[in-house]
Amino acid sequence: MGEDIYSKLLDKAEGTFSKSIRSQRRLKIPEPDIIYEGKVTIIRNFASVIEMLNRDPKIFIKFLTRELGIGISMDPPRLIINKKVDQETIRKKLEQFLQIYVECYECGSPDTEIKRVGRVDVLECKACGAQHALKMTKDINQNESTLEEGRTYSITVNEIGPSGEGRGNFRGFTIIVPGAKKGETVKVLVKKIRKGTAIAEKVKED
Ligand SMILES: [Zn+2]
Repeated sequence: MGEDIYSKLLDKAEGTFSKSIRSQRRLKIPEPDIIYEGKVTIIRNFASVIEMLNRDPKIFIKFLTRELGIGISMDPPRLIINKKVDQETIRKKLEQFLQIYVECYECGSPDTEIKRVGRVDVLECKACGAQHALKMTKDINQNESTLEEGRTYSITVNEIGPSGEGRGNFRGFTIIVPGAKKGETVKVLVKKIRKGTAIAEKVKED
C-alpha cells in the first residue's frame, strides 16, 4: 500500500472512533501545584493528583523515595519532599509512575489494579484482562511506552471498525489492522502513526 492510502485510512479512522476505544485513551496527568519553602519541595495538590491516578498515595511515596533517594512525607493534601526538586523532574516522575503503576502494559487503559501475586506485584487490567509483573523504571526508559513506524508488535484485536477493519489498543494507541478478526492476537508491522492512532499490517509469525 502507498503512503496516501495509509493517510486516508487514518483520516477515516479518526472520524469514526467508537466510545469504547475513546474511553481507553490515556489518562492526562494532573498538573502538580508545586511550591518551594527553603530547600523543601511541596506539591500542594498531591491528594487530588494521586486520586486522579487512582492509586494508593503510599505506592507513589515509595516509588518517589526510591527514585530520588530522599525523605518524602505526606501532610494531606500536600506531599513534602525534603529537597529542592525542579518541576520538570516531578512531571517526569509522575509520567513514569503512570506508565509503571497505572496504565495497562498492553492496551494502555488506566482501569487497572495492583495485586500481590505470591511475592510479585502485578498490574491487572480490568479492560483487557492482561496481567503483568510491575516493571522497573529502567525498563520504561527504553521507549517501551511509545510506538515506532517500521517496527513490529504483537497486539490483540478487540473491536471491528465500521469498514470491517480490526482495531486494538496498545501502549495507549489505537491500532488499525485491516483484515484482522475480533479476538485475534496478531503480529503487526506499524506503517504510519498519527497522534494516538496507527495503521498496521498483519505480518506472518516467524
Ligand atoms: Zn489492558
